[in-house]
Amino acid sequence: MTETLTQNEPDAAWQDDVRQGVRHVRDLDRLPLSSGERAAAQEAAAHHKVRAPKAYLDLIDWNDPADPIRAQIIPSPAELDAAEGELDDPIGDHAFSPVPRLTHRHADRVLLFPTYQCAVYCRFCFRKESLTSIGRGYTRAALEPALAYIAAHPEIREVILTGGDPLSLPDAALAEIRARVEAIAHVRLLRIHTRVPVALPSRITPGLVEALQGRLMVTVVTHFNHAREITPATETACRLLRQAGFVLLNQSVLLKGVNDSVEALEELCRELMYRLGVKPYYLHHGDLARGMAHRRTTIAQGQALVEALRARLSGICNPVYVIDLPEGGGKVPLGPCHVEAHDGEHWRLRGLDGEARDYREIVGAGDNRSSKDPTAGS
Ligand SMILES: *Cc1c(COP(=O)(O)O)cnc(C)c1O
Ligand code: SF4
Repeated sequence: MTETLTQNEPDAAWQDDVRQGVRHVRDLDRLPLSSGERAAAQEAAAHHKVRAPKAYLDLIDWNDPADPIRAQIIPSPAELDAAEGELDDPIGDHAFSPVPRLTHRHADRVLLFPTYQCAVYCRFCFRKESLTSIGRGYTRAALEPALAYIAAHPEIREVILTGGDPLSLPDAALAEIRARVEAIAHVRLLRIHTRVPVALPSRITPGLVEALQGRLMVTVVTHFNHAREITPATETACRLLRQAGFVLLNQSVLLKGVNDSVEALEELCRELMYRLGVKPYYLHHGDLARGMAHRRTTIAQGQALVEALRARLSGICNPVYVIDLPEGGGKVPLGPCHVEAHDGEHWRLRGLDGEARDYREIVGAGDNRSSKDPTAGS
């Protein structure tokens, strides 16, 4: 049996948000799309499903063709042109998947995919090919090999539920997954990567929170890309999660025409931290997802943006700008880099005011212990 969002749970107000939203490409007929969007919709939907709850659609200003929420969910004609070099599996998940529904690239943490379905489908998604080609929901049996793998690898301390969107599952499925993971003694933290607090905040209910509570430390990593997504409903959702004692972080994707300005990122990061209590964690450089060239910036543009953010925002409001390297190279930081020159003990470092300063290292010889290579490990 496949359990999904549309399955009945009594008294769930969020189900209206789902029912009244866009669930199929034909539902786009109700929306005031441009002729280009209308023409692209059917074809683009064949590559990546179209779905958005009513609460998220209601944020769109239909008079603005460049609306940042519209850009994230309405198929664009530009999507139909895959550029050379774009990848089906942009970050190399598949090569590091020893068993179905699990990716193990870093020793201490794994990605676990309880479902390949989402509450909202984002046009820029780097896993869109998996979502389309696999398209499977949650079943107990499907996770057994992954859970056995985690149990057999004591170096795994953190299990990251991703997908798909894990919070698109019913409470009972979440409680079951949480219980199975926490029964593995060496696992210490459960992390959940989700767009539900953004696109379907009414789904964050006391029942959902309770399903996730247990022995493990819980971290919820939300995915806000623009300050316009931050509303009273998302505030309520994040408050519920915080009051449960969960650590809240956010990852954003740098998207041309959505958030590629200092002003847009500054407001996003500030409102995340000050209004939602969500710490900006990563700003991802646009992945090489197929058909997304029109939303990508250059790396140099991204570096200039995060250098400006560093000067404007409090330390706790700054995300780390990363690129997820193809072939499983992992997420590596791209900046800001304030080193202008370096020669032996002499460094030339650019300050937050843009002025460069000289800095000379003074490091004593020390004893054997302190002069040990700090990267050598214990
Ligand atoms: C992103 C990712 C993680 C988590 O990385 P953090 O830097 O800890 O957020 C873990 N495994 C894989 C395969 C990933 O892509
Ligand atoms: S919610 Fe996440 S996994 Fe689903 S389409 Fe959006 S970015 Fe992709």
